[in-house]
Amino acid sequence: MRKVLIANRGEIARRIIETCKKLHIETVAIYSEADVNLPYVKEADSAFLIGPNQVQQSYLKVDDIIALAKREGVDAIHPGYGLLSENADFARKIEEAGMIFIGPTPETIETMGDKIGSRQTMKAAGVPVVPGTDEGVQTLEDAIEEALQIGYPVMLKASSGGGGIGMIRCDNEQALSQNFVSVKTRAKAYFGDDVVFLEKYISDGRHIEVQIFGDTHGNIVHLFERNCSVQRRNQKVIEESPSPNFPQHARERLLQAAVDAAKAVNYRNAGTVEFIVDEDNQFYFLEMNTRLQVEHPVTEAVTGFDLVEWQLQVAKGEHLPVTNQADIQSTGHALEFRIYAEDPKTFFPSPGNIKSLNWGSLNGIRIDAGYEEGNTVTPFYDPMIAKVIVQSESREEAIIKAQNFFSSVKIEGIKTNVALFQEFLGAKAFQDGTYNTAVLPQWLDQQKGGK
Ligand code: ADP
Ligand code: ADP
Ligand code: MG
Repeated sequence: MRKVLIANRGEIARRIIETCKKLHIETVAIYSEADVNLPYVKEADSAFLIGPNQVQQSYLKVDDIIALAKREGVDAIHPGYGLLSENADFARKIEEAGMIFIGPTPETIETMGDKIGSRQTMKAAGVPVVPGTDEGVQTLEDAIEEALQIGYPVMLKASSGGGGIGMIRCDNEQALSQNFVSVKTRAKAYFGDDVVFLEKYISDGRHIEVQIFGDTHGNIVHLFERNCSVQRRNQKVIEESPSPNFPQHARERLLQAAVDAAKAVNYRNAGTVEFIVDEDNQFYFLEMNTRLQVEHPVTEAVTGFDLVEWQLQVAKGEHLPVTNQADIQSTGHALEFRIYAEDPKTFFPSPGNIKSLNWGSLNGIRIDAGYEEGNTVTPFYDPMIAKVIVQSESREEAIIKAQNFFSSVKIEGIKTNVALFQEFLGAKAFQDGTYNTAVLPQWLDQQKGGK
């Protein structure tokens, strides 16, 4: 593998370029008109304009991207996350064109890309899934009947959904009736598929996920868990590893369930098995993400491995760099913060020009940024501008380190959630580590009440 095309943008494109440089692999970047000045375009060995700003006309142009890769003599394509990363058709066409898709097989992407299908697969493999419907629900009448069986509150979900989009909690029949059509419509608009299903809403649940990795020789390992329960709009904003307040026996069962899940589909490359864990540490499979995850640096911090390097190695057909589970250790504690160009009160994107960007004293802190000073955050893509990864011996120390860091960050020209992190890090609910997915919305409500 001498030349890799990165079918993505921003921080993840930059992240992949970094590992390719380390391994002396040439990189080809693609960019839309809006992204011409971003750092990843300069850092790649070559970069090509793929189209105008809208993703449908640029980053999602499957055939154009593959044609460019062929023309440039590329050996493999890395899809990053989001965009085409879970598009089985893309993966299949890359392989048909004689190149390597850096990810799982198109069949695995298909099976796991659909939440209903993956629930069925996991259930058959003996992995506990959230109680809910085994099939899609067609009509509101069916939904009401099923919800009575499951018991309210329920989560109404698009089978094809992702990024927190296409799901809503319904506390009663009235709420279900109100939302049924709109969730279907939204799912159709975002994901081109309006199949929905119902799950029991796990109250006070924690989102804990497991990083798994497989190769083409049948080896599968886990790289421990990440707690991603600090969320807004069902989207993660802070992730950490190890998960606080999680007894060792429960952790071991969870890690094993994730490995079983991966084995059930003969998994290859990087993947994440997401679970929702209740107050009694019972866990239920939510979904599997068949790609590198936004929050993979948390795992890199505690294990010391470069996950993109692992991806490239496995994609070449080599064995996993470590095949013996006991040789993978987790040390210390790591936290990741997603810095968004957004209004910290409404969580709406706040695009604009980054007039100044000063991270202050880094002191061993890792920043994966997609933008630099002078760049413009446009409304066309996800408004995440950077990830901050803080690592220390203990969780307490990591929190203090993060607090010190955030007090020196200065970003001007766009609104960001930096000040929110600074305050939230001091909240008892976060500090004591017992939090669940409601922690951030609840804390924000309290702040409002107190002022
Ligand atoms: P992770 O579990 O890695 O945090 P998410 O499921 O939140 O991943 O999504 C991964 C990336 O893809 C994020 O950057 C997210 O914003 C983006 N994404 C996912 N689905 C969509 C969508 N429908 N529209 C836009 N971006 C999306
Ligand atoms: P996505 O594909 O958008 O990432 P997920 O199924 O992974 O969708 O769910 C995203 C988040 O929504 C979870 O991390 C959790 O906070 C919440 N969630 C999803 N399903 C449930 C459920 N059944 N009960 C409670 N919370 C849920
Ligand atoms: Mg998810």
